[in-house]
Amino acid sequence: MLTLIIISIPFVNFIIWILLYIFNVQRDDFSIFLIIGPVTTTISVVVIIIPFLVVWSRLFRQLEYEASRASKAQNEAERLLAQRTEFVAYVSHEIRNPLNGIIGIAEGLDSSKLDPNTQKNIGIIRSSAHDLMYILNDILDMSKIDQGQVELNPSEVSLHDLLTQIYNFWKARAENSGLKFEIYFCDTFPDYVNIDAQRFRQVVNNLVSNAIKYSEKGTILISAECDPPNRRAEIIVQDTGIGVPPAMQKQIFHPYKQVGTNGQKDQPSKIGTGLGLPIARRLARLMGGDVKLVESSRAGSKFKFSFAVEPLPTPNKAKIQSARLEDALHKKTALIADDSMASAIVAREHLNKLGLQSTLLRSGQDAIHKLQNQQFDIILLDDDLGDMRGSQVLEKSKTPTAPNANSIFIAYTGRVEQASRQDFSRAGFNGYIPKPALLDDVKDELARILLEPKAAK
Ligand code: ADP
Repeated sequence: MLTLIIISIPFVNFIIWILLYIFNVQRDDFSIFLIIGPVTTTISVVVIIIPFLVVWSRLFRQLEYEASRASKAQNEAERLLAQRTEFVAYVSHEIRNPLNGIIGIAEGLDSSKLDPNTQKNIGIIRSSAHDLMYILNDILDMSKIDQGQVELNPSEVSLHDLLTQIYNFWKARAENSGLKFEIYFCDTFPDYVNIDAQRFRQVVNNLVSNAIKYSEKGTILISAECDPPNRRAEIIVQDTGIGVPPAMQKQIFHPYKQVGTNGQKDQPSKIGTGLGLPIARRLARLMGGDVKLVESSRAGSKFKFSFAVEPLPTPNKAKIQSARLEDALHKKTALIADDSMASAIVAREHLNKLGLQSTLLRSGQDAIHKLQNQQFDIILLDDDLGDMRGSQVLEKSKTPTAPNANSIFIAYTGRVEQASRQDFSRAGFNGYIPKPALLDDVKDELARILLEPKAAK
């Protein structure tokens, strides 16, 4: 207040002085003001304004300096984060290669020829290697999410189908652990929506696998709920397990914080990376929703995964089928054996359009030789290969120990009159494409085999 008064005196004087001058008042009468005015004004300029300007300019420079330091620190943090992501990606790739070898060899060992003890040990190697692969994937995912490198790839999917697939996948596991496993859909649960199916699956899988992991008995329930006014849907996963202790409830969504063993010290297999829920939450937030722990007690836990949905008016089943098929054929390899060059090339073109790279062979002998040494996911065999029948190639190449024991064999045949689908199925073929085949025929047959699990058997 005092400062204000001191500052205002010279200004008031200065203004009076100006007014006197303007109205040409007798100078003698106000001589005292005439002296005080300019003097105090000068003092005010020197004593107050100049230091103020000096302080202000210093402050400004300091602010500028701090801002540049903050921006450098941010750049440095971003650089380190990018370096960490690159390092994690590099290390995980380096670990993945030898791990692949371990899993491949362990899977390839024919358990029936091993003594029980070795069988048990191989089983441990297999499951440990798989666990390690999951951990690597989690670390890589978290690091990508931190870097903002995870983008969603939405496509038209049926939520009903997706959830039913997830349910079927976990059902046997839950029941093997002595748990009941149920699913419920609310009446108006949206079906066809645009969503990133792979990431959706990842979030639900995490909640369901935790529910099974942390429940000894009781029921796991997946409820598909809807909230149409908010254009949202919710998946609630409820269990009757050990619950999350109150002290841990806030921490379980924090990455890089090992929450602890949740009291299961005697069950090391239940200790995870602690990254599943943080990843699930971030993915859900990318989908316009969230993952929350709704309630938890010693009687069990209830997690809610919410996400934004825009129901599609007319389900385009053909498009959905194509997207799912493309997904199922991703990175698969194919072999075509046909003595007719023209029909082999047509088949190759069709498979190529579905994203499959194929190897072409012209005789039964060549096919047998190739199939004894290399594994293919899909094998198209002409029924009449010139030197032998397709079914003879199949017989020699689909023995339990052969590399193609579990591959999909499809009869690619012109003998439609003589042999039916059932005949080829009896001979051991998984599928049947009569010639001349259109792209849609090949597509439909592959979809039948790959997307309808019972059809492949
Ligand atoms: P983890 O791989 O360790 O399971 P998550 O991030 O999925 O990682 O879960 C973090 C922790 O939250 C778990 O270690 C566990 O202690 C606790 N938790 C998660 N889901 C459940 C549940 N359904 N019941 C009890 N505890 C749970």
